[in-house]
Amino acid sequence: MKVNRNGVRFCNESTPYDILCFQAGRQPGGVFCQVFDANAPEDILRFATIGCSAFANQMMAVGMPIEEFCAVALEQGVMQKADTLDELADKLGFEGDAKQAFLDQAERYNQQFDAQVDDDFGKEAYRLSALRQAPFYGCWFGGSLLTTIDGLQINGDCQVLRADNSVIPGLYAAGDVSGSFFSGNYPEYIVGCASGRSSTQGRHVARLLAGDLKA
Ligand SMILES: Cc1cc2nc3c(=O)[nH]c(=O)nc-3n(C[C@H](O)[C@H](O)[C@H](O)COP(=O)(O)OP(=O)(O)OC[C@H]3O[C@@H](n4cnc5c(N)ncnc54)[C@H](O)[C@@H]3O)c2cc1C
Repeated sequence: MKVNRNGVRFCNESTPYDILCFQAGRQPGGVFCQVFDANAPEDILRFATIGCSAFANQMMAVGMPIEEFCAVALEQGVMQKADTLDELADKLGFEGDAKQAFLDQAERYNQQFDAQVDDDFGKEAYRLSALRQAPFYGCWFGGSLLTTIDGLQINGDCQVLRADNSVIPGLYAAGDVSGSFFSGNYPEYIVGCASGRSSTQGRHVARLLAGDLKA
């Protein structure tokens, strides 16, 4: 479950990164809190996500305990852990109305899991989870950077362009330093498109410079 500073769920947690990040960016302070319980290993396997988050699936599949998976965040105090949701809310800094809203929201989320229907945001039933099994975990998140959406403007041969679109001879840019490939969207469902873009462009430039291709 993801909630904002007011303890209120604000999105379908099953949406791609960019949609989630934009929604989170519109919340108070631009931050959100991720909460899960001791059943996380089973939940993560059932969610069957793809892309870089599949790293968690793989660790759970080989039996890594959730405590070990979260060890660094817990040790550094970035992630909080508690025996009850009430205690977790305190540790995460929810106070007053926000704390009550957080507890009410968790209860509502549990009811939606029982009914297997997310009637607030339409999350798929197989990606709903309950928050009932202690210990409970929570962590605050802000913006995150997976790839750059700006950078040097290039042509089809990765040659860097001047502001007037003329080629700068001998200067190439591939991967994250090249610009506009993901302008406005980072399509998570095309898994590997960022690292794939980098290696494809890099290989293309290498072949050009080796004389294997004509510019
Ligand atoms: C957490 C995370 C998850 C991701 N998951 C995915 C995914 O599932 N699928 C996907 O396609 N993409 C994913 N990405 C994005 C993808 O990893 C990047 O887009 C890709 O690695 C960019 O490759 P690159 O070669 O352009 O840049 P980089 O991989 O950043 O390589 C740049 C290299 O240049 C070196 N360097 C920097 N400055 C200098 C210097 N002055 N001199 C010499 N060397 C220097 C750096 O050390 C680095 O090794 C993810 C990114 C992150 C952060």
